[in-house]
Amino acid sequence: MIAEIRKILNVFPIDPGFKFIRDDSPNAFAVAESDVPNTRGTVYIGMNLINDEFTQDQFGGVAVAGICAHECGHIFQYDNGYMQSLHGPTAQWIELHADYLAGFYLGRDGSHSRDHVEIFANSLFRKGDFDFNNERHHGTPDQRVAAMREGYGAGQAGTDVRTAAESGASFVRAL
Ligand SMILES: [Zn+2]
Repeated sequence: MIAEIRKILNVFPIDPGFKFIRDDSPNAFAVAESDVPNTRGTVYIGMNLINDEFTQDQFGGVAVAGICAHECGHIFQYDNGYMQSLHGPTAQWIELHADYLAGFYLGRDGSHSRDHVEIFANSLFRKGDFDFNNERHHGTPDQRVAAMREGYGAGQAGTDVRTAAESGASFVRAL
């Protein structure tokens, strides 16, 4: 998992801290505040969430990679103005854009095949969202999977991250 996070940080120009938390209900989230010295933003990853993904599927690791990339996507959004520009009546665009960025990472990284990435798609579909404590609407399961697959394609095509993030923003707005 640490290796996966290192790879994510090679794709996204971000420098967050990471903390593992004891989550009563499976959860992961990202904040702009730095909880770890000399980092920018913080990603919190719940042990229950990770455990759930690994027990759900023998290749659950790809879903864990996707979840980490989704949360790192939120850090990229904090750093690049997307938290403001994608802010709408609900968190839907922000969440779908993070799904797009997660797909982008998986496509760019190249070590996760399209079939394999469907495990992450199933995980997204099952949950609807990773921000379980948030009662706002975050997009339908179909929208989440569509955003992730679109990002995956951009990653595979070798699009640079900033160009892809812009395309992703247009894509999720039109979903
Ligand atoms: Zn999220």
